[in-house]
Amino acid sequence: MARVLTYIAIAVLAVIVLGADYAPYVNLEVAPYIRRHTIIDPTTPKLDKGHMVDDYFSVEDLGQNTFAIGEPRYYQQNYAYLIIGEKRALLFDSSSGTRDVSPVIKSLTSLPVTVMVSHLHFDHLGGIIPFHHVAMIDLPQTRADMKDGLFTPKRYEYSGIADKRARPSFAIAEWLAPGRTIDLGGRVLTVLSTPGHTPTSASLYDPAAKRLFTGDYIYPTTLYAFSPGASMSAYHETAQRLLATMPADTILWTAHCCRKDGGILAPWLRMKDLRDLDDQMLRVKAGVVPYTGFYPRVYPVNDQMTLATGFPWNNP
Ligand SMILES: [Zn+2]
Repeated sequence: MARVLTYIAIAVLAVIVLGADYAPYVNLEVAPYIRRHTIIDPTTPKLDKGHMVDDYFSVEDLGQNTFAIGEPRYYQQNYAYLIIGEKRALLFDSSSGTRDVSPVIKSLTSLPVTVMVSHLHFDHLGGIIPFHHVAMIDLPQTRADMKDGLFTPKRYEYSGIADKRARPSFAIAEWLAPGRTIDLGGRVLTVLSTPGHTPTSASLYDPAAKRLFTGDYIYPTTLYAFSPGASMSAYHETAQRLLATMPADTILWTAHCCRKDGGILAPWLRMKDLRDLDDQMLRVKAGVVPYTGFYPRVYPVNDQMTLATGFPWNNP
């Protein structure tokens, strides 16, 4: 009897240790079963800025030939950005693919459109298939996703399991190394590697407009620094680099709605918010900030953001 109890105790301990170590993956795999959610809100949202298209997308003119294209009814409330030059346009994030965004893009520009995603999660890459000129950040991890001329994100890179979405496969027309510029004609954007949320996350800098398009590195509401591949040390290093190199009056245009002090509109933040995040990450690392929840742990950051992390040992 004592031996059986010992085996059971060892087995329980092993499950706890493995579960804690693989928490980002376990959490993602079980999420669809324990966190049920409506994918599309049945009601039409009341936008604070811009207008609705097809009762699904929101289009907001940010000035300087730049548009925010939102999915305010989609439960993740994603925002993509269309940046238009004289010769070509760049769509940063392809939207979630819950509805086809390509007719909306065609209604805004007749120029050739290049699509680049901020990262490979399903809610940013899911709408890629209608587009034929895709640019990808050039990193060893993204190059490793090529097979027979097609790019397919890995299971956890895409993380479509959350909504039972199949991974897309598509051709890459341009590889853009971090630091490379994209000339749209009359305006030049710079590709930045901004790991933290995922290892291959990218941001786009528009120096003339003093805009940084950040993807999911930072946005109002709750930052996901606990999903597979997320890294607190990468978050911190990226924050340090951006704080050292971006002008203090840069506006951050982010990929998930909404600000606490605004209604439904393209979600923006300031460099001050990035500073607040970085300061708080240092305090989190020092273990001096109280958190709520078990997994993820949620820490307050400022009036716009909270930070959700894993356990310290699997979220280095
Ligand atoms: Zn996202």
